Amino acid sequence: MRFDVLTLFPEFFSATVKTSIMGRALEAGLVEINAHNIRDWARDRHKTTDDATYGGGHGMVMKAEPVALALEAVKAEAKTAPRVILTTPQGAAFNDGVARELALFERVVIICGRYEGFDERIRTLVDMEISIGDFVLTGGEIPALAIMDAAIRFLPGVLGADGSAEEDSFSTGLLEYPQYTRPEEWRGMKVPAELLSGNHALISSWRRREAIRRTALKRPDLLEKAIMTDDERRMADEFKREGKNEKGD
Ligand code: SAM
Repeated sequence: MRFDVLTLFPEFFSATVKTSIMGRALEAGLVEINAHNIRDWARDRHKTTDDATYGGGHGMVMKAEPVALALEAVKAEAKTAPRVILTTPQGAAFNDGVARELALFERVVIICGRYEGFDERIRTLVDMEISIGDFVLTGGEIPALAIMDAAIRFLPGVLGADGSAEEDSFSTGLLEYPQYTRPEEWRGMKVPAELLSGNHALISSWRRREAIRRTALKRPDLLEKAIMTDDERRMADEFKREGKNEKGD
C-alpha cells in the first residue's frame, strides 16, 4: 500500500514513520510512505502557499493551486488512481470502519491543512474529508499519521506474530477484554483465575463476557451495532444496571 502525504512540513513524518510497527512495515515493503512538500509546487518567487482570506478576517488560508499541482504530480507517479483524503475537523468521523476501508486501497493521498484552513475549492479535488475528532489541531499532520497508522494495522502481515487486529477493540463491535501479563499478583491485584486455567473454552468465554461488561460500562453506545446473542444482550443490560447502581445513578 502506498501513501502520499501532501504537507507543508514533510519533516514531521521522517522519524515517526520509521518507528515500531510502521517502521517494520516500511522495511518489509508492505507500505510506502512519501511526504511531499506542497511548497515545491508554489510557482511564485517567494514560494507562497497561503494568502489572506477574502471578506476579511484573521489568519491565512492555504491556496488551491499549489495543492492541486502537488496532487496532480503525485497522481501521475503511478497508474492506480489513489483515494484522496482531506484532513479537516469538518470531515466524517474517522473510526475503525474507515481505517479498514482505506486498507483496501492500493494508494491513498492525504492532504494536510495548516493555518486557518484551505481555500474551499480544494474540497473539489478530494474523494473524502476526514476528521479525527471534535477538536482543532494546528495542522493535518497528526491526523495523517493517525489515519495511516490505523489503516496499516489492517494490512496482511503488518502485525505479524505481535497480534491480530481482529481481536482489538471495535473489530468485534465491542471493546477488547482486559489483558494481563506477569507477575500473577502485583500490588495485591491478582490475574483472574480463568486466564491461568489453561482451559481455552473457559478463557474464551471469560474474554467474551468481560468484553461485553467493559463495553456496557464504558461505551454502551457501541452495543446497539455489536453482534451478540439474546443471552449476551441480557448480560449487557445487567452489566449496565450494575454499573449505574455502583455509581449511585
Ligand atoms: N479553521 C478550520 C476550521 O475551523 O474548520 C480549522 C483549521 S486547523 C487550525 C488547520 C488544519 O489542521 C485543518 O485544515 C486540517 O487539515 C487540520 N485539522 C485540525 N483539526 C483536525 C481534526 N480534528 N481532524 C482532521 N484534521 C484536522
